[in-house]
Amino acid sequence: MGGVASVREERRPGVLPVYVHPGWAAHFPWLVQGTTARGEAGTAFDLRLFGDTPSGEVIDRWLRLRHELGVPRAVHARQVHGTDILVHGAGPTGLLVSERFDGHATTSPGVLLSVSVADCVPIFLVAPDPRVIVLLHGGWRGVAASILERGVALLHHLSGAPAGALWLHLGPAICGQCYEVGPEVFDALRLPVPSAPKPLDLRAALADRALGLGIPPDRISISGFCTRCGDSPFFSHRAGCRERQVGFLAVLPGA
Ligand SMILES: [Zn+2]
Repeated sequence: MGGVASVREERRPGVLPVYVHPGWAAHFPWLVQGTTARGEAGTAFDLRLFGDTPSGEVIDRWLRLRHELGVPRAVHARQVHGTDILVHGAGPTGLLVSERFDGHATTSPGVLLSVSVADCVPIFLVAPDPRVIVLLHGGWRGVAASILERGVALLHHLSGAPAGALWLHLGPAICGQCYEVGPEVFDALRLPVPSAPKPLDLRAALADRALGLGIPPDRISISGFCTRCGDSPFFSHRAGCRERQVGFLAVLPGA
């Protein structure tokens, strides 16, 4: 993974717990990128749509998020650890929730793509010229089934940009020390198979795949945050959290 930078997200000014890639924020002023976080104790900023959290509370948080980010149209889907990616156009304001997609793409400004995560990897892909964005939910099953490769192919199809012109950020997710998995997971990912359960660095595996696809190392970054260890402001499924944060990506309307 030579040359791939570790980037620690920074808290975005504002009321809501939102963390952004500082380099991307400076380099792409027309982009809205980030990951929500757990928020203050007792008032967790839970955005989980498919659980036992009262839906009125959750929908209200989504409304506040769209308002604060300045993107009134958001799209989301019930995720199934698959590789299907939904392409969105411009449309009405509000929150559109589809079924059975683990990725979203758009060529339209003003569409807030979102994926739900709490240890899995939010995978942010950007083609700057023309502006096309793809956001993927990367758990080991989706990565093994080539969701990254499908996302990059879709981005190329929509933008015409070669892999060398793309940018990739692998957001806050469980780290290579905290994520112990069985040999079958290494096998599915076509990595060297250990004889016993062993920690897996899924983001390193994704970065290797991205390099193999031709994305330049200086355009790939990995979040310095682990959702489970350290001073993580994020929810972690393996740490017992039932809540979920979202990774989000949009081209600012009118930018
Ligand atoms: Zn960790």
